Amino acid sequence: MDNYSMYLPSYTIGDKAYDKVYEVCKQYGKTAVVLGGNKAMAAAKPYLDTALAGTDFKIIEYLQFGNECSYGNVNMVAANKSVIKADMIFAVGGGKATDTAKCVGELVGKPVFTFPTIASNCACCTSVSIMYSEEGVFVEPHFFERPPVHAFINTEIIANSPIEYMWAGIGDTYAKYYEATISARGETPEHFTWLGVTVSAMCKDPLLKYGRQALEDNKNHVNSYALSQVVLAITISTGLASIFVTRDHTPDYNSGVAHAMFYALTPIKNIEENHLHGEVVAFGVLILLLCDKNYDEFEKLYAFNKSVSLPTSIKDLELTREQLNKILPSVPNMSDIKHYPYTVTEDMLNEAFSYLDEYNKKER
Ligand SMILES: [Zn+2]
Repeated sequence: MDNYSMYLPSYTIGDKAYDKVYEVCKQYGKTAVVLGGNKAMAAAKPYLDTALAGTDFKIIEYLQFGNECSYGNVNMVAANKSVIKADMIFAVGGGKATDTAKCVGELVGKPVFTFPTIASNCACCTSVSIMYSEEGVFVEPHFFERPPVHAFINTEIIANSPIEYMWAGIGDTYAKYYEATISARGETPEHFTWLGVTVSAMCKDPLLKYGRQALEDNKNHVNSYALSQVVLAITISTGLASIFVTRDHTPDYNSGVAHAMFYALTPIKNIEENHLHGEVVAFGVLILLLCDKNYDEFEKLYAFNKSVSLPTSIKDLELTREQLNKILPSVPNMSDIKHYPYTVTEDMLNEAFSYLDEYNKKER
């Protein structure tokens, strides 16, 4: 067996999560620069100010992170004088801001703390940043040895954030469970990978149990128990699963048919412009389950998607059968299903879509 280290996420969650900032951060210094989007920083600032009032900890500047998590932007932010001066970096916001701050922290050799203000993904506690070009085209995942030092998850801020982030985040999160478990089927991987596959159950179960209530509460800006359970599934369960499952990148259990469908569909204008990543992936999971001939689970998830208005038909994604027929041949070649327990064929996909069509007619 090889020698290896695992660095895992640590976090504080709750409406008073920022009250822990001073205690957790003071051993790393007394100053921070905040990197984030303007809206996110505006939402977090009053809480941060209150939490740090009366301490000797100082936030030097609230700095807009740029718009894209690109290597060019990372280099530019890293050269900012507040970034150079600060003892640590506070990443405030969603995925792109957090991923940018993680790269900046690595480049300037300073610890990064994260403050997610929306619950759309696990960027606040993973050891990877998703890199894009300046024009916003996906480039590559950029891996770090360890995740951010600590995530401060203020559920009150998240309860007041726009609902579509959590809504789409739910789809992307439960996909992790289905894709990891199917990819691992019939195999006995190394301990950490196995652990990741097992942990991925927590990316699905809490969502099916609390998802509907959490979205209702998010809509009404109520910071509830259900909301916190969903936030934990989207950030922490997924973060842990991601770190365990991608540690040595082989075997690749990190993706599957749902994401292959997403990447095949993105060239279509409607999809790119009007639909969120997690929303499309949520639909892809239905196709994944039909390809897997797991009809019981399909019916369960179909009912869940319906209950929270996640897509259950190509019409929900503004897609025609003609558009679909054009992209289906590309799905079997997607790298997302290179490691899979069986070959996903075009026939299999056609059959899945026909089944879904019939099922939709029956349900109406
Ligand atoms: Zn995804």
